[in-house]
Amino acid sequence: MNKDLLYKKETVYKKLGKEVTAAAFEYCEGYKSFLDSSKTEREAVSTAIAMLSAKGYREYTLGDKVKAGDKLYYNNRGKNLFAFSIGSESIRNGIRITASHIDAPRIDLKQCPLYEEGGIAYFKTHYYGGIRKYQWVATPLSLHGVIITKDGKTVNVCVGEDESDPVFYISDLLPHLGYEQAKLPLDSAIKGEQLNVILGNIPEDEEDSVKNAVLTLIADKYGITEEDFFSSELCVVPAAKARDIGFDRSLIGSYGHDDRVCAYPSLTALLESEDSTHTLMCVLADKEETGSDGVSGMQSDLILDIIDSIANSFGVSSALVRANSKCLSADVCCGYDPNFPEVFEKMNTSFVGCGAVFTKYTGARGKSSTNDANPEFIAWLRAAMEANNVVWQSGELGKVDAGGGGTVAKFISKHNIETIDLGVALLAMHAPYELAAKVDVYETHKAIKAFYNFD
Ligand code: MN
Ligand code: MN
Repeated sequence: MNKDLLYKKETVYKKLGKEVTAAAFEYCEGYKSFLDSSKTEREAVSTAIAMLSAKGYREYTLGDKVKAGDKLYYNNRGKNLFAFSIGSESIRNGIRITASHIDAPRIDLKQCPLYEEGGIAYFKTHYYGGIRKYQWVATPLSLHGVIITKDGKTVNVCVGEDESDPVFYISDLLPHLGYEQAKLPLDSAIKGEQLNVILGNIPEDEEDSVKNAVLTLIADKYGITEEDFFSSELCVVPAAKARDIGFDRSLIGSYGHDDRVCAYPSLTALLESEDSTHTLMCVLADKEETGSDGVSGMQSDLILDIIDSIANSFGVSSALVRANSKCLSADVCCGYDPNFPEVFEKMNTSFVGCGAVFTKYTGARGKSSTNDANPEFIAWLRAAMEANNVVWQSGELGKVDAGGGGTVAKFISKHNIETIDLGVALLAMHAPYELAAKVDVYETHKAIKAFYNFD
């Protein structure tokens, strides 16, 4: 038969060879820096604004008129960012939107966090997003976030990233006494109320209190009182930095690939698309890991307000702009893991090293609660990818009955914007240290650039 009739899923290495692998390795040096400087959504927004400002992007205020050639960003409370460039073609043709998220699963402090027990001072925590609790014990942790004092002062906190910093720690049981714990299911062996972060062990003289001693240290360093924790947002994340993995350095291990591994490729694609005639928008969203609720999540009406504001500048109906817009919900997919073949259906699963992943639908229990991209849109994307030599594959989140998940796709398509999920296949998604292939990060970057520029 004619072998050209067959669909072949092949690696990026085989399809594009050494040259693109070298380009991917170089590109990923920037990505690793982005990861290390963006461990929370607030840090990711700061990093992104610095990158945008360096390329001439200016801050936008809702209601301001825009014109062709404008390069702008809207900073939503320091946690969610909309960067956009106004193209030369009519806004009636819609906006090319990418939406990735910059929050990642982690452990948040409770609002009354500080206490002492058994001669050790601790922070009480409430985990954020879908973590596997047993993975977060007995490992070095860092503390990131902000404390806002009553007089409106912002105190930035970042401890555990500099080599000279101390780190933090959550203890686990020793195996010698863990016989009963070892029989428990993974999801209950470590309980939410056991994720208490160790802060110190030296008591203060008069009252013999370790809590007071730690509070004194915190007060001296940050100028705050215990009540100030109530208006704080402090997050505990892995202290490890992004590192190359493997003898061939083909992979990157890092905290928070989900979803900075799509945020960075989207942002850099926007910055490299200066000549696009289309209006482009790169959204970096918060709160995806907890359901996209809240003022900084994709369920907020802010995206409508911004599109309205742009459409009004040209006297065009924002409904028309949305109807003609297209969106890549840029988020990760699971890669096939040979250690756990039982949860995957090999024909429709994405493989690490095989390029950017298009996921037509997500959801669970019979495609429930998902966007489901239209084949007309997918066909257009196939043409865009082919024209730009992008290696891509299709993906699905595991076997039909194995579980499921979701992304921001459905919160964008509900605004009458054609949407599909695109991203990088990860191993160990949501673990404190996740794995991604450099060539996949690069192909995802190329895919987004193709989407931004294709005519
Ligand atoms: Mn994600
Ligand atoms: Mn996730």
